[in-house]
Amino acid sequence: MITVLVTALTLASSDPAIACDGEHRQGGVLVCRTEPGATVMLDEVETRANADGWVILGHDRDAPEETRLRVQIDGEWVFDERYDVAPAEYDIQRIDGLPPAMVSPPPEVLERIRAEGVRKRQAHASRWEGDGFISGFIQPTEGRISSRFGGQRVYNGEPRTPHYGVDIAAPTGTPVLAPAGGIVRLADEDMYFEGGLIFIDHGQGFNSAYLHLSDVRVEEGDVVEQGQLIGHVGSTGRSTGPHLCWRIRWHGRNVDPFATLDVQPDELR
Ligand SMILES: [Zn+2]
Repeated sequence: MITVLVTALTLASSDPAIACDGEHRQGGVLVCRTEPGATVMLDEVETRANADGWVILGHDRDAPEETRLRVQIDGEWVFDERYDVAPAEYDIQRIDGLPPAMVSPPPEVLERIRAEGVRKRQAHASRWEGDGFISGFIQPTEGRISSRFGGQRVYNGEPRTPHYGVDIAAPTGTPVLAPAGGIVRLADEDMYFEGGLIFIDHGQGFNSAYLHLSDVRVEEGDVVEQGQLIGHVGSTGRSTGPHLCWRIRWHGRNVDPFATLDVQPDELR
């Protein structure tokens, strides 16, 4: 109880310890500025502002209706607020009366799938110290949105894994550009499910992925700039036609890639 009162007094007597641009909504993204090196906690996720006080945060597709943002500076909690998380509407397709059909990979590729899963998990664990995200984000390729973030099919009442990306349909060979600077943590032209695949960490573990590429023009460890060519649209891996599947994960949360396009870090300079 005493702690709560002290926090309230501290907040009332000074400017907010953190300022953010972006939305607390399901799949939403926020770029914030606080004190250099401050510890920032969004719910259970702990991250650290860089030397200029920048931090990037995200909400999962299925984020609960309330979120808590806290900031700790020099061992003291100086900010503690709760926010409503706006619900998102997802395309849910119910398909009933289908004969049960399992599309399982053949047994001879299971070892390959397992090994590729390890590489993907290791790449997702990247927590790059750079700050590519402070430029804001651009769309990596142009085309028709063929599948929005978060859609889900329900076959015979059984929900399948939601679509954690945005699909942009475009002809094979259409350039794919880095939407913000970052470091390439995975680059492979032949993954079993994803085909040509790139992962980029834009800083602090804000990781974007590009699937089904016809070719890959970067290598693991490359530091890329916003707008740099990283590959081309294709239909490699388990894909039914040429498109870019663009995904973003942040500390295990599946974030809406298009939410990055609304964030204006310049407002915080
Ligand atoms: Zn997709």
